[in-house]
Amino acid sequence: MSRQYLVAGNWKMFGNMASNQVLVEGMCAGLDAVPKVQVLVCPPATYLTAIQQAARGSGLLLGAQNLAAQEKEGAFTGEILGSMLKDVGCSHVIVGHSERRALFGDTDAVVAQKVHAALAAGLVPILCVGETLAEREADATEAVIARQIDAVLAVNPVASLAALVIAYEPVWAIGTGKTASPEQAQNVHAFIRARIAAVDAKLGDSLRILYGGSVKPDNAASIFAQTDVDGGLIGGASLKAADFLAICAAAQSQG
Ligand code: PEP
Repeated sequence: MSRQYLVAGNWKMFGNMASNQVLVEGMCAGLDAVPKVQVLVCPPATYLTAIQQAARGSGLLLGAQNLAAQEKEGAFTGEILGSMLKDVGCSHVIVGHSERRALFGDTDAVVAQKVHAALAAGLVPILCVGETLAEREADATEAVIARQIDAVLAVNPVASLAALVIAYEPVWAIGTGKTASPEQAQNVHAFIRARIAAVDAKLGDSLRILYGGSVKPDNAASIFAQTDVDGGLIGGASLKAADFLAICAAAQSQG
């Protein structure tokens, strides 16, 4: 099945009002050249409204980097409800990024609950999975990813997951300049697709699986050319409009 490419920028905790304005204007100016690609940016939450306004009418999609596990308003200081993200124009939300898992206590169970909360709010969850270097070296990559996916399936009925996007992000490749080889990425993406297909063949077929981990303009095309790679989750290179657009162009030029 042919799946539309999605290229998502994770800005992490970088930028300010002025730099974001320049970045978004630069991105929007190049979107006409990549009409086949869905292009999404996930800025820090404080800038969502300003970016939504700056990108209005451009087709640039807006997402958040995280959301609360709760599904209703309440006394949860510092948390942001999925419906609040939706309210300010988000269509997507990153869930279970390895930095959240490693630094902020997002366990498999919390991540599964956040996927549920995202879907309940009408947001597309981009579920991040991936192994550490030690896990890869111990030949545990598939076991780790199976555990991360199965935790989500345990809480979310498969019928609710039509919108789900999965991002394979080997932890050893994030922000390190080390990229998985196209073959390494393809092998894990095929494993993810098979794992989902085992519970729902149609969902396995339609599922979009992004690769993330030091994707740059010069390596994007060879990764995106892999059968089971449907786009990218881009950190560092999404902070430069020209680099991000070059990565989008690599997706645009696929089959
Ligand atoms: C990320 O933050 O999800 C990421 C993939 O970062 P980078 O592209 O910088 O490795």
